[in-house]
Amino acid sequence: MERLTPVLQRAPGRWQVANVTAIKRETPRVKSFRFELPMWMPHMPGQHYDVRLTAPDGYVAQRSYSVASSPIDKGQIELTIDRLEDGEVSPYFHDVVMEGDQVELRGPFTSYFVWRGEAPVLLIGGGSGVVPLMAILRHRRRVMPDLAMRLVYSVRSADDLIYADELGDEAVVTFTREPPHGWMGHTGRIDQALISEAGIDSGIVFICGSNPFVDAASDLALGAGFRANQIRTERFGPTG
Ligand SMILES: Cc1cc2nc3c(=O)[nH]c(=O)nc-3n(C[C@H](O)[C@H](O)[C@H](O)COP(=O)(O)OP(=O)(O)OC[C@H]3O[C@@H](n4cnc5c(N)ncnc54)[C@H](O)[C@@H]3O)c2cc1C
Repeated sequence: MERLTPVLQRAPGRWQVANVTAIKRETPRVKSFRFELPMWMPHMPGQHYDVRLTAPDGYVAQRSYSVASSPIDKGQIELTIDRLEDGEVSPYFHDVVMEGDQVELRGPFTSYFVWRGEAPVLLIGGGSGVVPLMAILRHRRRVMPDLAMRLVYSVRSADDLIYADELGDEAVVTFTREPPHGWMGHTGRIDQALISEAGIDSGIVFICGSNPFVDAASDLALGAGFRANQIRTERFGPTG
């Protein structure tokens, strides 16, 4: 089995043109894109790349996307993109980008939101905030599957559950709006009871999602006894 070998975080590489090798629909609003990178370098789970789109008139739009895949997948990365109805970049990926296309990428970017193999780990994600947490979970499954790690994952409805086919025993899901038919598990927002149920009360906490989600989850982690220096957060956008 390969061991977790933390890499030194370096300045991100130059802009490079990546090939889209696979596209997977995760939910009605979310797709995962696999890219082959000519100048790939290993990332730490949690890091992100920037993508750059350039229109024929020279207009440029640039956005950040977390890597969803493990760095064991040499030469490739996967990005998972939530389609925002009135967005500029995310609808382009959903409606225009196809397998075989080329896209400009740059990364991985240095971040404190990285997992270096510390344990135990509590992951708390809201909506597409699960993406970098999935990179951590996937990497742990491949390098140290016995390491204590739980994911607490909040989504609105069954239609919003990203990576549904990959969520195993280590995930506790709650539906805030519409649970699936016959659902016997949790409903409503993440609360102290759900955090306790995850059963991780030491080590390190990674929280990712919208600004209000990260604020609420950080308060819950502090309430569960974690100190601020045990909590790492990543914020995706202005609204929930
Ligand atoms: C470090 C980092 C990592 C990220 N990783 C991911 C990822 O893995 N997957 C992913 O889908 N997104 C991720 N994001 C968000 C992403 O960068 C874009 O902000 C998002 O895709 C919207 O871009 P857009 O061009 O489609 O929308 P825009 O044209 O930028 O915005 C359209 C409208 O949506 C609002 N808005 C912008 N961003 C968000 C948001 N995140 N949530 C809700 N409303 C928003 C804007 O205020 C505006 O009203 C990440 C952001 C950061 C900073």
